[in-house]
Amino acid sequence: MIDPEQAHEAIVEATGPACAQINAFAKKVLNTRGGRIGSGMGALLEALWGYYVNNALRDSAGQARQCELAWMYAHEYNDFACIVRDQKWDPTTREGELLRLEAKSMVASADESKAHFDQIVQKLNQQDILVVLVWDWVPVDDVRVCPQILDHFVGPALPIAEFRDALHIARGGTFVTPGKCPDGCAAGSCSHVGEPLNEQGKRERRTGPESRRVSQQVSYASNFGGMVRMLKTNSDAARKIFRESRRRNDTVDAYVSFIHKNFPNEEMNQYSASEWKRLAGRYDIDGTGLSKDDLAKKVRETAPEYRTQLRDF
Ligand SMILES: [Zn+2]
Repeated sequence: MIDPEQAHEAIVEATGPACAQINAFAKKVLNTRGGRIGSGMGALLEALWGYYVNNALRDSAGQARQCELAWMYAHEYNDFACIVRDQKWDPTTREGELLRLEAKSMVASADESKAHFDQIVQKLNQQDILVVLVWDWVPVDDVRVCPQILDHFVGPALPIAEFRDALHIARGGTFVTPGKCPDGCAAGSCSHVGEPLNEQGKRERRTGPESRRVSQQVSYASNFGGMVRMLKTNSDAARKIFRESRRRNDTVDAYVSFIHKNFPNEEMNQYSASEWKRLAGRYDIDGTGLSKDDLAKKVRETAPEYRTQLRDF
């Protein structure tokens, strides 16, 4: 019988070919004049990812065939569950489930991604998976465009959530702890434990304590878990946590590398001018008189594998 680790592997393997199939489909069917950001296209791509991966699992000649993706229904947080094929599935008890997945999409050319990974750690399981699709509108001919998935990430969700939380705390944020809810809930009946509050003490999610609304008009802040924003650091302490976590944890490194590859300005900003200089030095690049921007450009041209070095910083 397939286990969660093998199911994870099967989903990773199926994702590359699934994205290629989605792109072929999008070229044929989803091509259009115009093509705007915020069109709901991201949600469609996430759904297509689920269907195409599911088909790949079904058509697999190996062990992958023993599992399939199911849509979560009701008010469950996750998008999909990976379940044992043709067996009884009960999402309430998780009978028949191998793991759960959340799929997020990000537009490569958007200034700030709207995608959020803000599930609180208490609700994530060790096996849960985070899928991120980076896409953009790409020309089909002289006048028409279609959405294309440019890159994807599939990995364990929990280490990324823990990294996100460590940086949240480094930024001055907190989490609601048992018995200390700002709403004054009784310890046993508080639904806010684990909810993030930002450095101003305001709630970051709609489900956070009502007494910590941002204002009369704005219900919650929603910076927490921004796919790019969560990696930002604004102090030496935060930068230290960023570097230590990246060095220590393969998943954190893979996620950081994925975001930095697709949003190179984030990488440029994360590392200081002296760090870029140090990195350039490792490749015998003469950085004299070069701006941080030019230095980063030069490193990227000279040594495409430079992120393995950055991980050690
Ligand atoms: Zn409460």
